[in-house]
Amino acid sequence: MTNFDFEFTKILGWSVSRYNMFQTCKRQYYYNYYGKYDTEYPTSEINKLKNLTSIPLMRGTIVHHVLETLLKRLKVTEKNIDKNKFFQYAKKECRKKSNNLAFTEVYYGDQSSVSASELYEDVSTCLKNFIESDRFPWVMEEAVKYKDNWIIEPPNFGETRIDDIKAYTKFDFLTPLDDKVMIIDWKSGIPDENKDRKQLMGYTSWACYHLKKDPQKIVAVLSYLKPEYSETIIPMDDFDFRSFYRQVKKETYEMRDYCKNATENIPKEKEIFMKTSNEFLCQYCNFRDLCKGDKLI
Ligand code: SF4
Repeated sequence: MTNFDFEFTKILGWSVSRYNMFQTCKRQYYYNYYGKYDTEYPTSEINKLKNLTSIPLMRGTIVHHVLETLLKRLKVTEKNIDKNKFFQYAKKECRKKSNNLAFTEVYYGDQSSVSASELYEDVSTCLKNFIESDRFPWVMEEAVKYKDNWIIEPPNFGETRIDDIKAYTKFDFLTPLDDKVMIIDWKSGIPDENKDRKQLMGYTSWACYHLKKDPQKIVAVLSYLKPEYSETIIPMDDFDFRSFYRQVKKETYEMRDYCKNATENIPKEKEIFMKTSNEFLCQYCNFRDLCKGDKLI
């Protein structure tokens, strides 16, 4: 394996989620990535909104956390799990998060509080679907043979280089399998073909770069945990990778165009980061408070 560290630079790094937000609403993107440059609102106010979580987001975070804990435990002991304790642990996490975090649904008055059971119902469905799937015994019996070389979330937020472009791709689990490598990312949301494809390409590119692997020796899987367990594997050839590299480059330069200093990642004026015209999207945005009064949301 290679060294995962890169020399620190401030230059903007591409990721699927960053570009997705850039496309969705430029103003949301500005507040999310460049809030400290804003002169209209205090940074503390912007950060408070940025740090709000939502019920669907937190359900996914808890599922990821429990599965991460499961994999880390497997590295220590291969003993079968106590299912009762496994679900108790998930329940405890739901309680902790519902008590300690600020939710958009509460902040914007849609409901007065978020209960642990509101989180747990969905979390337990995802976890149950996983441990009842064929992937679970595969992890326990096959993948575990390679546990010393597992990567449970890549280091440095998944920083990598895609055709020399700084990028971030954060998968959940990587295991060697003889001369191959398998990468798995748990999903608690709904499939999105375009996004899924980019994510799988990103994970494969990460492994090509850091592990010096041929793309044909890498299997990247999106593991959907609900409504029932299913997996997405998209076959990719050299042509697909070449066009993915071009796409990453194009999207990166589109985002860098909104910087007055791209090397230092300093944004242009806020006014050019236009608010979305699709007000439906505003219903789910953390920064509604800042746009309120300018438009109907
Ligand atoms: S409230 Fe709407 S316009 Fe304002 S930042 Fe959010 S998505 Fe964009």
